[in-house]
Amino acid sequence: MALKHHEYSSPHFLGGVHPPESKELTAHLPVRRMPFPDEVVIPLSQHIGAPAKPIVKVGDHVERGDLIAEAGGFVSVPMHASATGTVKEITRWPHPSGNLTPAIRIAVDKHSAQVPRARTIPDWRGLSKPELIQAVQDGGVVGLGGAAFPTHVKLSPPEGTVLEYLILNGCECEPYLTTDHRIMVEQPRRVLTGLLIMMRALDVKVGLIGVENNKPDAIVALQEVLPEYEAELKEHGMRIDVIGLTVRYPQGAEKMLILALTEREVPRGKLPLDLGVLVQNVGSVASIAEIFETGLPLLERVVTVTGHGIRKPSNVLVPIGAKLKDVFEFCGGVTMDARQIVMGGPMMGPSQANLETPIIKGITGIVVLPAGEVKSQEEYDCIRCGHCLDACPVFINPQRLGLLAKNMRYETMQEDYALNDCMLCGCCSYVCPSNIPLSQLFGASKAYLRRNG
Ligand code: SF4
Ligand code: SF4
Repeated sequence: MALKHHEYSSPHFLGGVHPPESKELTAHLPVRRMPFPDEVVIPLSQHIGAPAKPIVKVGDHVERGDLIAEAGGFVSVPMHASATGTVKEITRWPHPSGNLTPAIRIAVDKHSAQVPRARTIPDWRGLSKPELIQAVQDGGVVGLGGAAFPTHVKLSPPEGTVLEYLILNGCECEPYLTTDHRIMVEQPRRVLTGLLIMMRALDVKVGLIGVENNKPDAIVALQEVLPEYEAELKEHGMRIDVIGLTVRYPQGAEKMLILALTEREVPRGKLPLDLGVLVQNVGSVASIAEIFETGLPLLERVVTVTGHGIRKPSNVLVPIGAKLKDVFEFCGGVTMDARQIVMGGPMMGPSQANLETPIIKGITGIVVLPAGEVKSQEEYDCIRCGHCLDACPVFINPQRLGLLAKNMRYETMQEDYALNDCMLCGCCSYVCPSNIPLSQLFGASKAYLRRNG
């Protein structure tokens, strides 16, 4: 099949790294739906913002798709039962963040056909903007690229904001992950419909879909269905372009993506909105399209389960709240030499030790690494090689910041060394020959500063 896209060669960002992609394990594998486990655990915090508030009690029967917790405020989303069953307990439970957080445990009904209640499906074109935003919040839609920012908040920019570009992030630059890749290949209409819904809601005229050039089949799939949307786009004076991008980590970081697609640089202390740009993940817009297609809220998501430590690497459609152990079982279990589990990609994702941890909306992948692939944890003194400075795509000084973090000088990190600009991409840790866990130190420093106002 001829590739119609053009390679977008510039401008690309300075710094960054090119780790082994390791996507060949799952890039070609269609998404498989896993069976419903015996229990799902739905944490009340799966998003940025206030936790959801439970509206069920122990012993209640819930059907798949039922509301079980209300949004805790505007910057919050509701939670839904991802399977039919009985509320077993509302308790603190292991969360992918590593903390124990409030969650609703549901014992899944083994004999249920898991068919949701009949519901009215609204036609999004007939909804007013506030109705559309409400429908997206009611659907529990959040950014599925990892950040889990509530999507309805993105659809409600401050009064007077003029948006020129809506960018869809289809880069998936983290090694191993193929979730967004498979969504673009298998559900290109959902991606384009979701993008169109957001463009109409925000009155944006230009939609740009940025895809790294290592996913040519995704670019082709999107371009093949794009003509179906041309008439409606033309009627509203809109345009959508699918653009192939240089393969370099972290091409999918917001600032890098905006630079590559619009040639605009987000200055220090500014937001993409200040430049008339909004970025959304491809999986998130596909889930917006899905809620208007099925009437169901966000109950499941695609997760890449991969690495040489898993017997059957797969792209899996997982009910929200399924536990790691159940997902692994569906993928043939882990190998004898499996050593480390990473939730998300290996560059940014935290390690996991507890197999009872549930999959939440923001989990893009699970990477299981065997002993031979786990980087030595032995840490040495900084040798001032400067590799971390060369790798940092936002031009801050990881070496200096690392020293300050070790001396707990968090305020100095923020005030004099622009810690705020650090996006925890992990490039500095990746290149450090002394194994200094720089980005982890910066993550902990940011958490300290947040906790202490
Ligand atoms: S983690 Fe922060 S300091 Fe390190 S390379 Fe990324 S942006 Fe720079
Ligand atoms: S890469 Fe590591 S060893 Fe080299 S300057 Fe940075 S912190 Fe020091």
